[in-house]
Amino acid sequence: MSNKDSFYEHVAQTSDAPMGLEIDYAEGPYIVTTDGKEYVDFISGIAVSSLGHRHPKVVEAVKRQVDRHLHVMVYGEFIQEPQSAYAELLTSQLPDSLDRVYFVNSGTEANEGALKLAKKYTGRHKFVGFNHGYHGDTHGSLSVTGRDVYRDPYLPLLPDVHFLDFNHFDGLETIDEETAAVIMEPIQGEGGIIPAQKDWLQAVRDRCDEVGALLIFDEIQTGFYRTGSLFAFQGFEVVPDIMSLAKAMGGGMPMGAFVSSSEIFEVFKHDPPLNHVTTFGGHPVSCAAAYATLSELLSDDYGAKAKQIEQIVREELTAAGIDEIRGVGAMLGMELQDRDLTQKVVESCFEEGIILGWTLHSNTLVRLAPPLIIEEDLLRSTLQTINKTVKKYC
Ligand code: PMP
Repeated sequence: MSNKDSFYEHVAQTSDAPMGLEIDYAEGPYIVTTDGKEYVDFISGIAVSSLGHRHPKVVEAVKRQVDRHLHVMVYGEFIQEPQSAYAELLTSQLPDSLDRVYFVNSGTEANEGALKLAKKYTGRHKFVGFNHGYHGDTHGSLSVTGRDVYRDPYLPLLPDVHFLDFNHFDGLETIDEETAAVIMEPIQGEGGIIPAQKDWLQAVRDRCDEVGALLIFDEIQTGFYRTGSLFAFQGFEVVPDIMSLAKAMGGGMPMGAFVSSSEIFEVFKHDPPLNHVTTFGGHPVSCAAAYATLSELLSDDYGAKAKQIEQIVREELTAAGIDEIRGVGAMLGMELQDRDLTQKVVESCFEEGIILGWTLHSNTLVRLAPPLIIEEDLLRSTLQTINKTVKKYC
């Protein structure tokens, strides 16, 4: 049976129309298929390969760790150098109130942990999320994801979850003395690349402080310089109590984390002990890859690179008459008139060797999230091809 046949017959499918590229290898900004066709990965595997595919420093770190040890023990028992070193490096970049890291394997798992931590610390169980927010597909994360079409088939989910409108001051009193936490993306990704307004974000922070609710920032998509600062909260100057991370964190390896203060994390140690454990969280190979990724990101001005990408994208697309470009840094999207046009543009760019995509909650936004290592020439030529495609259908 060919790989293609086994994929369609034996790999569980999540839609009737997967993109279906058969991958041979991937390097830098490119993905190459088994028929030899080269694609520019203009969405970085959905905001993962910020350093491009197979960054040499990440590959080297992975190989080095594979030669030392793989899994040795469930999370939290043994001292493993890749975990400790990475936790120290990551927290050195964060405020004192985010000084402790719990490692997991994915984004949704990071949010699950964050929600449990908030419940245990506050002794409350009410959560507030936002319409069009996205936090993952396991039950807890889905419970705080703000789109009924994804939630309805799985009801009942967590009780006492309330949704507010993003960037709306109305309704903030829903965050009250019974609220364990507010969970939000500082820039909604799947909701259609919608940045929070700074004063509104500050108002949410203030309201949480007023009533003793924790503020969780899901930085799974916004993290690791995608938006121009290492984490989006640093750009907004609003510090969360808990931050969840994944995607670009592992440089292409599965990796997630939730970060908070030592004081808050204290509640995970007892009543009962081991009340939140994971077998593979903080896998040594993933931690080694994450360390190499963050070291590389810190060794050069990747924040400036993200901002330069934004400037070039806006310049090229505006020149072609696309006037609604949303987002910050290299987390961008272009809004087109309707679903039909959006689909045609994405499909036609695909034919031209450019991987673009939708966001989960929007039919009219084309996601643009190139790797931060993309060279200016390739960035401009890719945007020019996108322009031509849009013009063809408008
Ligand atoms: N939160 C956000 C903001 C995300 O964008 C995603 C993934 N798109 C997730 C959570 C879930 O991450 P994962 O797919 O690794 O579970």
